[in-house]
Amino acid sequence: MKKNRQALAHYSRDWLRNQSQSGRDSPAQSRYNGCMTEPAYPHLFTPLQLGGLQLGSRVLMGSMHTGLEEMRGGYKKLAAFYGERARGGVELIVTGGISPDFRGRLALPTSQLSWRWQLGKHRYLTDAVHDAGSHICLQILHAGRYAMHPFSVAPSAIRAPISRFTPKALSDAGVRRSIRHFVNTAQLAQQAGYDGVEIMGSEGYLINQFISAHTNQRNDAWGGSFERRMHFAVEIVRCTREAVGKDFLLMFRLSMLDLLQDGCSWEEVVQLAQAIEQAGADVINTGIGWHEVRIPTIAASVPRAAFTWVTAKLKPHVSIPLITSNRINMPDVAEQILAEGEADMVSMARPFLADAEWVNKARAQQSERINTCIACNQGCLDHVFQAKRATCLVNPRAGYETELVYEKTATPKTVVVVGLGPAGLSAASIAASRGHRVIAFEAGDIGGQFNLASKIPGKQEFAETVRYYLQQLKYYDVDVRANTAASVDVIVRLQPDAVVLATGVTPRTPDIEGIDHPSVMSYVEAINGDRAVGDNVLIIGAGGIGFDVATLLVEQSLPQHDWYSQWGVDTQYRHRGGVTSPLPLQLSRRITMLQRKTGKPGAHLGKTTGWIHRMTLRRAGVQFVSGVRYLKIDDAGLHVTHESETKVLAADSIITCAGQLSNRTLLDALQQAGCEAHVIGGANRAAEIDAERAIREGAELGASL
Ligand code: NAP
Ligand code: SF4
Repeated sequence: MKKNRQALAHYSRDWLRNQSQSGRDSPAQSRYNGCMTEPAYPHLFTPLQLGGLQLGSRVLMGSMHTGLEEMRGGYKKLAAFYGERARGGVELIVTGGISPDFRGRLALPTSQLSWRWQLGKHRYLTDAVHDAGSHICLQILHAGRYAMHPFSVAPSAIRAPISRFTPKALSDAGVRRSIRHFVNTAQLAQQAGYDGVEIMGSEGYLINQFISAHTNQRNDAWGGSFERRMHFAVEIVRCTREAVGKDFLLMFRLSMLDLLQDGCSWEEVVQLAQAIEQAGADVINTGIGWHEVRIPTIAASVPRAAFTWVTAKLKPHVSIPLITSNRINMPDVAEQILAEGEADMVSMARPFLADAEWVNKARAQQSERINTCIACNQGCLDHVFQAKRATCLVNPRAGYETELVYEKTATPKTVVVVGLGPAGLSAASIAASRGHRVIAFEAGDIGGQFNLASKIPGKQEFAETVRYYLQQLKYYDVDVRANTAASVDVIVRLQPDAVVLATGVTPRTPDIEGIDHPSVMSYVEAINGDRAVGDNVLIIGAGGIGFDVATLLVEQSLPQHDWYSQWGVDTQYRHRGGVTSPLPLQLSRRITMLQRKTGKPGAHLGKTTGWIHRMTLRRAGVQFVSGVRYLKIDDAGLHVTHESETKVLAADSIITCAGQLSNRTLLDALQQAGCEAHVIGGANRAAEIDAERAIREGAELGASL
């Protein structure tokens, strides 16, 4: 609590108000008016000539599929999405990947640009961005063997481990036709008003598949030697440049680090980059890792700016600008990369979902007010991989700009918010931003479950969300009554027009005989370090928090190691693909996770991050036991039945991670006092409560009051 209060005190309200007027709600045309005389991030805001474009900052909004591309009427929503980011100060945007032909679609419903009749919807995007004074490029992406449909094609008929379909090997005529399709799409993009195209040559998609011997086993003009394997990429760039003329921006996303055992060597990466420059690209963007690789590249556990060293390594070998990417989320990180000369520009995609005003806030020296992307993937990539519309866990408005609108209220109300976990913070800050008078009570630490999450190794970014909300409360004059449990009397005396109950959850104590044994503790006690955890640990419950606790205990018991060696990333680039053997994880602790279900433990973890958690724990020797029945706990340990046998599992510590129950003790008393309350977040429904739902419920309520 003390820390939170210090954070609140750190930024004076007046200072924030003065600093922010220029950035907030300002159109792109006036985005420099509020510029400080001494910019906080001089390298970030050094102008850059990129092809024919003159940019005032070195930030690219990188490509990100949103799912709006396939929705009926989705392009108007997409125009609102990009328009808001352009007004937020970003001067160059790359769209999500659009296929140049039918076979190159990632899935059958995904977007393709091949005909003139499709130009109208693209003009919504180019107009929206140009109206804000910014620029936009179309990304051309051919999925190759990553396509999730039976019509996929690739250099060779080799199925990807992440696809059910074996691709058809392209004939020589098919390869030439594919090149023409890329060129055709680039020309159509030009006609739709785009300022350029990004040709997607990384992440293991078709172009990358031609470049690598891993997927290209041809023996014709397009395979065999490295020169012939890269010929497809080079021809696409050369023919596109020829077709679109010299002023149309041509970016190439190049796989600088395949992270595949038989991926490109460093010498090949350099050779390819030089050939791409020669062929007419204006700028090269950094691609890291193929999608099929089991090394995390953008998850929260990846250190910030973990891969910029690769871009820096390429810089001396080419003369066109290089863009770097992956896990760059805050201005100080971007500034340092640029100041150290590692790249000419930084690319961020998810941070612009989290905060459309990222650039304006950085320019106005208000980075404390940036809603930081915490790299959870929960609202964005996990949605996309489930064919759902992308949004953002910390910003539910992302992708819903035309639907979730935070309008200033004409009738300010007194709103009492009880509980400042994610749901309460979201409701309080949105309601206050709309002009309501908000009084917020928090009995414990502001931030709720996010404070616990931020203590888990690889989840430290969650603390940024708490910092962001603290700033929002301060900025919008929320009357925060910290360390204060709200009573019905106090609430009633405030004569509120609306009461929001966001009192969260309490850990469930499983109904097992002996659950009060001294060896048993809750996940809250284990994470906060309130109780010492022994060397032989049983975890009851293998859901999200069970995995978090196990990850914490694993990290605590490992000898000192760095992230690169843990995952086998060869930062010296001595091996092909930049990979080497991962460091064996030798645990000084025995950890067993238990669940009653018979299915895979952690089955409900995020689609794009669950494998990282499961792999980390497996590699550390954590044992998983599914299908147990808990009998009792005593000095001998935990008694269970498993596979029809009764067993005693010895343990020094038993940690309960058995879900939660809603904490809504105030509700009945409020109702008896005639005070209706809106109940949100975990207090509303504890089952499967996660931060995404909590923040969205808070935002929707805040927008509706
Ligand atoms: P959870 O994911 O629903 O897991 C609860 C676990 O408790 C399950 O393994 C369940 O398994 C067990 N359980 C439930 N009732 C029990 C009982 N009466 N006795 C014994 N065991 C019981 O909930 P959580 O771990 O508390 O996480 C809360 C929410 O946050 C979830 O939505 C979760 O997805 C999310 N979260 C996600 C992550 C992540 O993605 N990395 C991390 C943290 C939290 P059995 O019923 O099979 O025994
Ligand atoms: Fe970033 Fe998570 Fe939002 Fe995705 S959902 S943009 S990873 S904070």
